[in-house]
Order: sequence, then C-alpha cells, then structure tokens
Amino acid sequence: MNKYRIGQGFDVHEFQEGRKLFLGGVEIPYKTGLLGHSDADVLLHAICDALLGALALGDIGVHFPNTDERFKGIDSKELLRQVMNLIKSKGYRVVNTDSTLILQKPKIAEYVPEMQRIISEIIEVETDRVSIKATTSEKMGFTGREEGAVAQSIALLKYTK
Ligand code: MG
Repeated sequence: MNKYRIGQGFDVHEFQEGRKLFLGGVEIPYKTGLLGHSDADVLLHAICDALLGALALGDIGVHFPNTDERFKGIDSKELLRQVMNLIKSKGYRVVNTDSTLILQKPKIAEYVPEMQRIISEIIEVETDRVSIKATTSEKMGFTGREEGAVAQSIALLKYTK
C-alpha cells in the first residue's frame, strides 16, 4: 500500500451570457458565467479530477456524466463532496491541494479567502492547505480573448487507515 498518492486535474469552460459565474464554490458578480451541464465551476472540477486522479479513479465525466439529468445545474460543491466521500472510502485523506486559474477577467483575488474556506471545509483540511492562484494568459489565446477559463489543480493524498 502506497502511503502517499498524487493527482492532477485540468478543466476548461466557456464564458456565456446569461449564466452565473461560480469559481471555487463562490458566486462572483460578473457580466457572464461559465457554460456547462453543472454550474460549470471550473476550479472545483479541476480539484475533483486531481483527487480522482491521485487514486486512478477515472475523471469527473465518468462519475458525473453530462448526459445525466441528476447533475443538470448541480452545485459543484456537491460533486466535490461526493468525490471526497469516495476518497475517504478508500482510506485516504487530503494533505494539500494547489490550483491555478487562468482567465483574463474578472480579477478573483478578493474572493480567494472565501474559496479557500469553502474548499477546505469540503475536503477536510485547514485553509492553509488549499492554495489558489490566478494568472492571465497576457491577452493571448482563448483565455486572453475572454472566451473561457481554465483551471489546473494538483492534490496530495495520504493513506490513513
Ligand atoms: Mg468541467
């Protein structure tokens, strides 16, 4: 039994008018939101995939198919809770996560403490073990043109049984 396992996650969603913007479990006032079957919280999806990836449990699309009506419009905090339950059922706990959001706008710095609080509560770690960073792509590419947002995450898990 390996005591430590590491995983990474990557996600992309498109900005669209008429949608609410959710990042890291926080609703952020903005002119557009991200498009998706769920609430399209790109950061929480990347963290889900990092946790699943650490234990080679597939990806978020396998566990929560976008063809399943049960997940339509679902709060991604609920998806992260379900992923966390799966991780715990395998005997693992989260050591820490580190994420980067890549988007041109909006600025998210003021929302990061709230994101850390929400995520840390769900994955059952202290807030200083949930790192959330953000960068632009210097106006280049689809994130630079404000067409979409990207999130990358990494997570370390520890076997605790
Ligand atoms: Mg997604």
